[in-house]
Amino acid sequence: MRGHDYEERITIRCLACGKEQELSPRLMVCSYCGGPLEIEPDVSRISISDFLKIRSMWRYRPVLPMGDFVEPITLGEGATPLIRLRNIERILGIKELYAKIEGANPTGSFKDRGMSLAVSIANSYGYPEFIVASTGNTAASASAYGARAGKRVTVVLPRGYVADGKLFQSILHGARILYVDGSFDDALSKVIDDLSRSSTLYPLNSINPWRLEGQKTVAYEIAEDLRELDAIFLPVGNGGNIYAVYKGFAEAIKMGIMNRMPRIFGVQAKGASPIYTGWNLGGRDLKPVNRPETIATAIRIGRPANWLKAFKAVRESKGFFLSVDDTDILASQRMLAKLEGVGCEPASAASLAGLIKLVDEGIIDKDQRIVIILTGHSLKDPIAR
Ligand SMILES: *Cc1c(COP(=O)(O)O)cnc(C)c1O
Repeated sequence: MRGHDYEERITIRCLACGKEQELSPRLMVCSYCGGPLEIEPDVSRISISDFLKIRSMWRYRPVLPMGDFVEPITLGEGATPLIRLRNIERILGIKELYAKIEGANPTGSFKDRGMSLAVSIANSYGYPEFIVASTGNTAASASAYGARAGKRVTVVLPRGYVADGKLFQSILHGARILYVDGSFDDALSKVIDDLSRSSTLYPLNSINPWRLEGQKTVAYEIAEDLRELDAIFLPVGNGGNIYAVYKGFAEAIKMGIMNRMPRIFGVQAKGASPIYTGWNLGGRDLKPVNRPETIATAIRIGRPANWLKAFKAVRESKGFFLSVDDTDILASQRMLAKLEGVGCEPASAASLAGLIKLVDEGIIDKDQRIVIILTGHSLKDPIAR
C-alpha cells in the first residue's frame, strides 16, 4: 500500500501455505496457492486508552488495518447492545446468558461492520465500482455503504432465495441487481467470472479479508463489556464471522481487555451443513452440499469460502460445530421474541437453537457465562408463521 508507516504494523499471510504477501487492498486470496489470507495488525502496543471516544466500531480504529489516509464511510455501525436474557436463563437453568444484538446495526446485520471497513478502504484507493454475491444481508449492506460512498454497486443474488426485507434494501439503495438461478454458491461463481474480466470492480465478497477485520470488532465490544465469558454461539454460513469473532477475542486478550479465550460454537442448519459435516469427518476439509436447503437463508450455503478459517476458530478455542433443524431454529426465534422481546431473523436464532441442543444433551456446563450472537434483525425476513 502507499508508503505509510502503517505497512510496518501489518502483515498479511496465507492461512493455507503460510507465505507472507505484499499488502494490497485488492488482494483477496494467496498469490501463491489461492488460500485464504489472514491480516495481522500489530496490537502489542495498543491498550484500552488508545481507543477513540466515539460510539461506533470506529472506536477501534487504532487496531484496524489501514493507513491514516483512509476516510471512514460510516453509518455508525457497531456499539450494539449486549443484553441479559433472564427469562431464557431461568428456563434453561443457565447461570448467565447474554445476546449481542447485531440486528441493531444500520442495515440490520453484523455485515455492516465489515462493509464499513472494506468500503472505506476500497473508496480511498479510488475503485469506482463494487460487486458482491450474497444471500441478502451482504447485498443490503454493500448497497447502503456503496451509496454513501457514491459508488455503483452490483449485487448478485440467488433468484427466489433472498428474504424480502433484504431484497427491498438493495432496491431502495439503488444497487444494480443480477439474479442467478441456483444457490449462493452459483452467484459467487458469477461474480468471480465478472471480476476476471474487470480491473475496476472491487469485490466485497466473504473471501475479502478486510471485511473480517471490521467484523472482529464485535468481539472487542463483548470483551469490553464482560471481560470474560465461557462460551459463545453463532450461526455459520460462509464461516467468515466465526473466524472474525475468534480473531477479535485473540487480539482482545493481547491488548489486555479480555482474560481468556471462550469456547466458540459454530451452528449450521441441518440442510446446509458442509462445515459441520467436514469437521466431524476429521476436520481436514469441508463436505460440500450441492443443494443446500434451510429456512435460514442467510446460512444457506453449500461451499463456504471461509471453511479453513472457521476450522481454525473452533480448533483454537476448543469449541466445535453443531447442526440444528429448521423447526428448532424457528422455535428459538419465537422463544427470543415472546420471552425476551428480542426479534431476530431465522439464521440468527440458530445460535440459541445450538445452545439449547447442547443443554438438552447435557454437553454444556450450565454454571457458565454464555453469549449468543443474534446476527440479523427480525424485519429482514418478515414471514408470519
Ligand atoms: C452472513 C450471515 C450469517 C453467516 O455469517 P458467515 O460469516 O457467512 O458465516 C449469519 N447470520 C446472518 C443474519 C447473516 O447475515
